[in-house]
Formats: sequence, C-alpha cells, structure tokens
Amino acid sequence: MPGWEGSDRRHRLPPDWGARRKRVLRRDSHRCRARSAWGERCRDTAVDVDHIINNDDHSESNLQAICQWHHDKKSGAEGARARAAAIRRTAKRFTRAEAHPGLL
Ligand SMILES: [Zn+2]
Repeated sequence: MPGWEGSDRRHRLPPDWGARRKRVLRRDSHRCRARSAWGERCRDTAVDVDHIINNDDHSESNLQAICQWHHDKKSGAEGARARAAAIRRTAKRFTRAEAHPGLL
C-alpha cells in the first residue's frame, strides 16, 4: 500500500493523540477512508485513525479514519518489516556461522 511504508511512529504520538483521534473519527463519520488499489472506497466502520502520509505529521489534515481490517493489514505489514530488520541486525553478529534455523 502506498504511504504505508516504514513506520516506527507508534511510540512517538503526540500527548493529545486520544482527543485528536476522536475528532478525526467524528469528522470522517466513523467510516473507513482507505481505498483499494483501484480507487474503491472501503465501506467498513472505522475504529482507528491512520496517517495518510506516513511521517511525523500528526495534524488532522494528515489523519483519516480507518477500519479494523485495514488497521490490521497495515500493522501486520509494519510488524513483518520490523521483524525482518531485527533478524538482519541479529544475523550481522553471527558472521562465522550459517543463519540459525531459530532465527528464521
Ligand atoms: Zn477499511
């Protein structure tokens, strides 16, 4: 998904994130604003708020309501990237041996 790449922003949310999140959900009428690759709008009920451009811009113009499915999909992709990066970092410390099956 474009714009969903490379986020480690979750632990850097602003202190008023809770209030901001509620305002965005209300603004978007609790409807998911994600779109499919072919531009079709998701029709599910939004339960979370997503950054449109994936950066540290937490202004409401960069936030949109998102449904559980799209949120899970996004979190899953980010989690997989984070795990892959952790495996690469770990692997660098074991240059002599082959990668241990337990690390894969
Ligand atoms: Zn959705």
